[in-house]
Amino acid sequence: MGTKRSAQILKLPAASRGESSTCKEVSISDSLARPRGKLRAGRSLCMFKKAVKLIPGGVDSPVRAYKAVGGKPPFIERARGSRIYDVDGNAYIDYIGSWGPMIVGHAHPRVSVALKKAIDRGTSYGAPTGLEVTMAELTLKAFPSMDMVRFVSSGTEATMSAIRLARACTGRDNIIKFEGCYHGHADSLLVKAGSGAATLGVPDSPGVPADLARHTYNAVFNDLGSVEALFEKNPEGVACVIVEGVPGNMGVVLPRDGFMAGLKALCVKYGALLIMDEVMSGFRLCYGGAQKVYHIDPDITCLGKVIGGGLPVGAFGGKRAIMEMLAPSGPVYQAGTLSGNPIAMTAGIETLKLLQRKGVYERLFKTASSLCDGIVEIARRRGVPCQAAVAGSMFTVFFTDRPVENYGGAKRSDLKRFARYFTRMLKAGIYLPPSQFEAVFVSLAHTKDDIEKTLDAAEKSFRGL
Ligand SMILES: *Cc1c(COP(=O)(O)O)cnc(C)c1O
Repeated sequence: MGTKRSAQILKLPAASRGESSTCKEVSISDSLARPRGKLRAGRSLCMFKKAVKLIPGGVDSPVRAYKAVGGKPPFIERARGSRIYDVDGNAYIDYIGSWGPMIVGHAHPRVSVALKKAIDRGTSYGAPTGLEVTMAELTLKAFPSMDMVRFVSSGTEATMSAIRLARACTGRDNIIKFEGCYHGHADSLLVKAGSGAATLGVPDSPGVPADLARHTYNAVFNDLGSVEALFEKNPEGVACVIVEGVPGNMGVVLPRDGFMAGLKALCVKYGALLIMDEVMSGFRLCYGGAQKVYHIDPDITCLGKVIGGGLPVGAFGGKRAIMEMLAPSGPVYQAGTLSGNPIAMTAGIETLKLLQRKGVYERLFKTASSLCDGIVEIARRRGVPCQAAVAGSMFTVFFTDRPVENYGGAKRSDLKRFARYFTRMLKAGIYLPPSQFEAVFVSLAHTKDDIEKTLDAAEKSFRGL
């Protein structure tokens, strides 16, 4: 020993020099115009090759990898309005909108200006801010079923925390969810979980303990009988039913008349909580989500996507007595280093303010339904059987001749035909979700001209499909 140091010192390794190779630069043009049917892809391919060595599958979320449709994903460099641009200089009309959040369009000036100012005030404090209070007020006003809300950093965190809370409040362990509904990737919820998983053909993920999965019961969407049967199996063991406000993660599937009300009634009858997962539907259908459309008073609501305006945000909220069970007011633990982050709150606040403007949702619906109707009309003319559903600013056209009311119905779609359609549309500059089991998302930035160009591309893509 000898020295009189009071602290132990961790010996750190010497710094090593980082190495990185680059993919060749290309000149970027701003216009959508390019030789028809030709995508330049050299730089994207170079990046993808590097990415797969460094990141599993080359992506940070599975559906981005184009496994369901074949081919390699373009790497994106920037986006503005309704357009997204890849690293090879290709421009696309974007109908993914970051999987829902970009409802006012990419890089909206009002959001961008607010963000730039916010960044200069520091990006995270790990302490309460007025922005969180403003965002909470906006959220509670939009969702009268909620008395209190807590912000987190993703939809997954929101649903995971909501389930914990429901289990704590009821003292019960089991949950009921629906086949094909996706609620993020928390263990309890990753059982028959729709899009990402369905697309990969792994409905149940390895690594979810059987002991936990057995507490998750799967019902059939739009089938109240299947829900009641599960309740009857274990009348005093079900903590909650969790359901997407309008499912968008098996493609858009509309609830039958009375389905949501029936769910609420079953929850009341068996003493379980109703969790409406409105991460997608919350601000996509209207300002106030599916619960406003169906007049449902859920015990807990989960939000995400749009409320972050393109930054990582989730939220869960509900009745005061339930929410006060959360730490530090109650014993149910839940926390997050970046929860309620000032940058994310700023993007959310500005986005919600834009959505409060008059006529916004009428415009979104008009865009979505014009596109959807147009595509269905072209399909009919070309003899391609299809079913379609529009919910506010999102829609899905399923390539099947039978009505789609649940996951089983969605799965009957012709996935090979979808893959061909997707690839042709991409080549024509239309950036659609690369899976039949996803919603097409429109934004306020989509113009009449965008719709025309898209339908024009569809007209050509359906030829001989
Ligand atoms: C996207 C989504 C989630 C998960 O949100 P993440 O932010 O991706 O974790 C949960 N529920 C629904 C309904 C979603 O659409």
